[in-house]
Amino acid sequence: MNILIFGPNGSGKGTQGAVVQKKFGVPHIETGVIFRENISKGTELGIKAKEFINRGELVPDDITIPMILNRLKEADCTKGWLLDGFPRNLAQAEALYKALEKEKITLNFVIEIELDRDTAKKRIMGRRLCKNDNNHPNNIYIDAIKPAEKYGATSCRVCGETLSTRADDQDGAAIDKRHGIYYDTKTGTMAAVNYFKNKVKVIEINGQPGVKEVSQDLLARLG
Ligand code: AMP
Repeated sequence: MNILIFGPNGSGKGTQGAVVQKKFGVPHIETGVIFRENISKGTELGIKAKEFINRGELVPDDITIPMILNRLKEADCTKGWLLDGFPRNLAQAEALYKALEKEKITLNFVIEIELDRDTAKKRIMGRRLCKNDNNHPNNIYIDAIKPAEKYGATSCRVCGETLSTRADDQDGAAIDKRHGIYYDTKTGTMAAVNYFKNKVKVIEINGQPGVKEVSQDLLARLG
């Protein structure tokens, strides 16, 4: 099973991607994770990618496209893959589709998690991290996972521990830049999503409800 998953930053794409990965048992390939691993290992690729990532820009296509096409040739991908974070623009979408056609690999379907720009931004800025466990969900803007109150300050709704924010979550300009790329229907990520619409089945999921409801909807639509 070969799947692409799209969704703006703040739409819960990572969480839903894990649900899809579990259902089909295919590797979850995330471009952002590959870049971050290369940066922390100090590889040549990581050194090249770092400056672009730090500026909130896309890493150039001549680095990213071959990196992903090579990754899809690795042994664990023979039974399929879930690609997350790629393609991120129209040029990447065209390159991927052509490469798959050449190798006679079928793209089974595309998942698109839809969420408007304002809500996505609010969700990112409202995210709070628990000092105990990053998987304890807390968000000051989402009623279902609102932090608890302790001595007048907010605390983790799961364990009561102190909460903090991630620096890049509070950088409104950087969020706007990333969303600018995502919602761009001419050459950006939305252009990539639209490119696939007359080629493969695109499953459009409403990202507005809570995490559980979105997962249920997604699993029901996946059959
Ligand atoms: P993410 O974790 O998906 O938000 O990705 C973090 C950063 O990695 C992005 O802001 C980009 O700078 C870079 N990146 C991730 N995926 C791609 C891609 N498909 N093309 C170019 N740059 C990417």
